[in-house]
Amino acid sequence: MNSTPATLPKQAYRHTKIIFTLGPASAEEGMMEQLILAGVDVCRLNMAHADHTWTRTMIKRVREVCLRTGRQIAILMDVKGPEIRTGDLASPVELVAGQLIDLLPQGGGSEDGILAVPVNYPGLGRDVPAGTMVLVDSGLIRLEVLSAVATRVRCRVIVPAKLGNRRHINLPGVKVRLPALTAKDRADIAVGVEEKIDFFALSFVREADDIDILRRVLSEASSSARIVAKIEDQSAIANLDEIISASDAVMVARGDLGIEVPMEDLPLIQKRTVDACIRLRKPVIVATHMLESMISSPVPTRAEVSDIATAVWSTADAIMLSGETTTGLYPLECVQVMKKIAGRMEGSATKGYNNSLPLKTHKDRLLRSAVTLAQEIGDAGIVVFTRSGLLPQTLAALRAWRCPIYAFTDDPVVFRHMLLMWGVEPFLIEFATGPEQCIRDAFAYLLRRGWVKTGDWMVVVTNALASEKTIDTIQMRPVE
Ligand code: PEP
Repeated sequence: MNSTPATLPKQAYRHTKIIFTLGPASAEEGMMEQLILAGVDVCRLNMAHADHTWTRTMIKRVREVCLRTGRQIAILMDVKGPEIRTGDLASPVELVAGQLIDLLPQGGGSEDGILAVPVNYPGLGRDVPAGTMVLVDSGLIRLEVLSAVATRVRCRVIVPAKLGNRRHINLPGVKVRLPALTAKDRADIAVGVEEKIDFFALSFVREADDIDILRRVLSEASSSARIVAKIEDQSAIANLDEIISASDAVMVARGDLGIEVPMEDLPLIQKRTVDACIRLRKPVIVATHMLESMISSPVPTRAEVSDIATAVWSTADAIMLSGETTTGLYPLECVQVMKKIAGRMEGSATKGYNNSLPLKTHKDRLLRSAVTLAQEIGDAGIVVFTRSGLLPQTLAALRAWRCPIYAFTDDPVVFRHMLLMWGVEPFLIEFATGPEQCIRDAFAYLLRRGWVKTGDWMVVVTNALASEKTIDTIQMRPVE
């Protein structure tokens, strides 16, 4: 049996996966190696800050480090999506409360001595009636629309700050009519497809159709990459179930979300999104500001520790690092802190599983039986064989604490997709011809890598031949 090249022995088992974002602080080969060895599962490329040469170099480097260390991780390309920005100013302007300011979506100049600021969205005047709040630069600046025509949106400054060039604009509650994919997104996606990356995250998803548009682009390019919907505005929340159903995974993108919704709603939206994703069997990522203070400090705040613990406790599939690993001073320490908190929380969980998962088929019922059986016979793991990742996805949605799901596949793409699933430890092997030999190979593999010991009980989900027919079975077997 062949296995992933030089796969490392057992890492400490973790239900919750860790994603890190690549940037100057983590791009150097030595640091990348340390992060991969420390246990990150997915590497994110944020295309808001990446050109194509850098992107290709990084993808190549990640793969080389994976090959060298023998620990495989997946790559996620996060495309920017529709984004409204202010344009360039002659120099930064210190705004003052009450000041008037004109946003110019279609060019033009200053009128009556009022500060004029270009904006990159020609339709802005049509979308923001008087009274709309315009938030600039991550909500630091707050403007209220006084009047709007196609060419000029006159605002009053409510909360002032210094306005620089090309600042991000949020329009909470406004349904902007921008395309789901910009020309830049399409060019970025083409690079990602060519480089065979594993996941595309789409920013500012507003409805399921946005996902379908990306799905068509990927299918026309014969890409099997999975789609992660970033939930970051009010339209996405209004269409949450449809978006989750259309996507392969979801990210609670708390950076923008925290600007687009009242901040006190954020924890409720996070919890609701995690729960909905589990119900609909889609992996869910909790992202942004998880260890923000560690950008410049070697230790987290107590509140950050609790935030990570809450995400782990809610059984989010993955927790994500952004600025902490792109520009922070302590990228490795951040991964170690996440691991430590996840390990502590998971270790304190008592057995139990998600018994409210809607079961649709007999196969689902079989999987639930596998989970209950594994939990009844001590700390047994589940061994499952898959070519699509669907069985492990359902097992993951059953959220069985203290019950590792060892998922064997012969497809490297499916192997990497499973790296995002809660509690799933994927392995890439060649499948033998008969189910019995597959089981023996899987046990031998787990033994060799130190994941199990001889005599440990396993629940195996596998096909078996019965009177010439292939049937689904679960088997309870000691490792031998
Ligand atoms: C976010 O807004 O939380 C997020 C992850 O997206 P980005 O980093 O693209 O702002």
